[in-house]
Amino acid sequence: MSTRTKRFILPESEIPTQWYNIAADMPNKPMPPLNPQTREPLRASDLYPIFAKALADQEMNQTDAWIDIPEAVREQYKNYRCTPLVRAYELEKALGTPAHIYFKNESVSPVGSHKLNSAIAQAYFCKQEGITNITTETGAGQWGAALSYAAKAFGLELAVYMVKISYEQKPYRRSIMQTFGAQVTASPSMSTKAGRKILTDHPNYQGSLGTAISEAIELAMSTPNCKYTLGSVLSHVTLHQTIIGLEAEKQMAMAGEYPDIVIGCFGGGSNFGGISFPFMRHNILSGKKTRFIAAEPNSCPKLTRGVFRYDFGDEAGYTPLLPMFTLGHNFAPANIHAGGLRYHGAGVIVSQLLKDKMMEAVDIAQLDSFEAGCLFAQTEGIIPAPESCHAIAAAVDEANKCKESGEQKVILFNLSGHGLIDMASYDKYIAGDLMNYTLTDEQIAENIKELDTMKL
Ligand SMILES: *Cc1c(COP(=O)(O)O)cnc(C)c1O
Repeated sequence: MSTRTKRFILPESEIPTQWYNIAADMPNKPMPPLNPQTREPLRASDLYPIFAKALADQEMNQTDAWIDIPEAVREQYKNYRCTPLVRAYELEKALGTPAHIYFKNESVSPVGSHKLNSAIAQAYFCKQEGITNITTETGAGQWGAALSYAAKAFGLELAVYMVKISYEQKPYRRSIMQTFGAQVTASPSMSTKAGRKILTDHPNYQGSLGTAISEAIELAMSTPNCKYTLGSVLSHVTLHQTIIGLEAEKQMAMAGEYPDIVIGCFGGGSNFGGISFPFMRHNILSGKKTRFIAAEPNSCPKLTRGVFRYDFGDEAGYTPLLPMFTLGHNFAPANIHAGGLRYHGAGVIVSQLLKDKMMEAVDIAQLDSFEAGCLFAQTEGIIPAPESCHAIAAAVDEANKCKESGEQKVILFNLSGHGLIDMASYDKYIAGDLMNYTLTDEQIAENIKELDTMKL
């Protein structure tokens, strides 16, 4: 057999030193977030009470295409970056496709997912501004785990509100957070007004992300020197994740190829935007024709079946109104195993790009995602996170189309995380206990009608 390179790694000196802010290059800028009371466009300073200033400024920045990655963040990145770009030869062979399939392996981060790329940046900017404490919420626990690592790295105290049902059923990510020194509280809790109210009314409530967000924001607002952080959806989070695509661009060049198709799974959009936006800038600025595909679960289909409108970012309605593709902030997703993809809306940049047809979205059934994940494990030897399985399923679909048409396309997808802490989900899939959850048009319309009632 000829010698062929499978993994492409950049030397430290080649790791990007800036993040890419696609908002600066977008032909149509995202519409502004609105203050829910006054309906006036928000300014960055309106966000200062909740978020670190530098992060609030990044959130609203539509002019600077390149933002320097601070030295201390780059030092932290060196603990696991550059992450490998891998040619999936064995997967190609199993599919019998002429397509060339590459994946960017973000699962090699110390916490097992891409979330660390933004956690490190957010902890750094908080520390810079003299903040001593940070709060957040976590559902399945990937964001909480990443932020625990980053808080420890920069000497911040972290309080995590973890949705109670996950706290009880998924104890290992809680252990990871506690090992890194974070204080983890099951939400709803008695430590906040929001939590006490819910527990008084419903003592057995199992919690939701919406409630956990309310608790985390309340604690941040009532604690001196404390800010709130978020692991997806917001534009500054996706900005930090562009390190993925910027590295991948250089690694694809090492492989002598350029992607025809770029794919990421989609929860709020941070890993999808992270791998896509650096390539999308060449579509915008120099006429490249790469296709970008966001792969969402068909049980939570905001991009493929939601509506584009102003909606709240959280279930309780505390956040600014965001212009987004949404199923309605009151949407209760099925309890699927890709916990990180169960969010009702999409980030504002991705929403505008989808509206402008600069990207596409597909929805994937739960059983198809696990089937693709098992095929990937058996060919490439890495057990993917249930979230990442959606990107793999979309890549397999595209590779199968190439098989039919005989086209030798280059497909790149992001492996956002590994699934080694999610084996309970694989157990259920293997035992045949998992189902597909498809929504009817009536269910979706019903949910969105509630937004009209609320005059959103
Ligand atoms: C959180 C998470 C996601 C979904 O979040 P995005 O912001 O859409 O990237 C996907 N994969 C993994 C492994 C995650 O932890």
